[in-house]
Amino acid sequence: MKNRINAIVIFLLFLIPLFTVIYYFEPIKHWIEDVNEKYAVTETGQDSESQQFFNFSRETENFGEYERSDFGNNAKHYGIDYHLAEDTPVKAVTHGTVTRLFDNEFGGKVLQITESNGNYYQWYMHLNDYKVKEGDTVKPGQVIALSGNTGKQTTGPHLHFQRMQGGIGNDYAEDPNNYIEQLPEGERSLYDA
Ligand SMILES: [Zn+2]
Repeated sequence: MKNRINAIVIFLLFLIPLFTVIYYFEPIKHWIEDVNEKYAVTETGQDSESQQFFNFSRETENFGEYERSDFGNNAKHYGIDYHLAEDTPVKAVTHGTVTRLFDNEFGGKVLQITESNGNYYQWYMHLNDYKVKEGDTVKPGQVIALSGNTGKQTTGPHLHFQRMQGGIGNDYAEDPNNYIEQLPEGERSLYDA
C-alpha cells in the first residue's frame, strides 16, 4: 500500500510541472522572446550559441484559419502574424512603390506596397508609424515603418504581413509563406528585432 502511494506521489510530482509548462507555453514563449530581446540589445558581438538557440520564429498566426485568436466563427486570416515589441523597425522585402498609407478599423495603420513586378501587392498592418510616404520607391531592407498594435483585430503587438496577387483586397490574398521563406533572411527580412 505504501509503495503504491509513493508511486502515485512521484507520478503527480512529474505530471504537475509538465502540465504547467504545457498550459503556460505561450506566456513562456513570450517571456523567452523578451529575454532574447534584452540579450540582443546588450550583446552586439557575433551570434552566440544561446542567441541561435532563441532565434526561433515569431509567427503567431498563419494564413487561413485563426488558431489562437477568436474573432468570430468565420473570421479568416489573410496574412501571417509576427509577434513584435511595439516600435520595432519594419522593412520592405521587395523593390516597389508605396502606393497607399491608410487607417483601417481592424487593421489599424496599414502600409501598401506595389511590387515592381506590377502584379503583386503587400500590406503591412497594425503599425504605429510610417517611415515613407505615398509615391516613394522602396528597396529590400529599407525601414518603412514601426510596428505597433493599432486596429481592432489584434490581441497584442504584432506585424501582419499580407500579399495579394492580381488585385488589392482580402479576396486577392494568397498564403505568403513560401514567398517569405525564400527571402534572404526568411521572416527576419521583414523586421529588425
Ligand atoms: Zn494578422
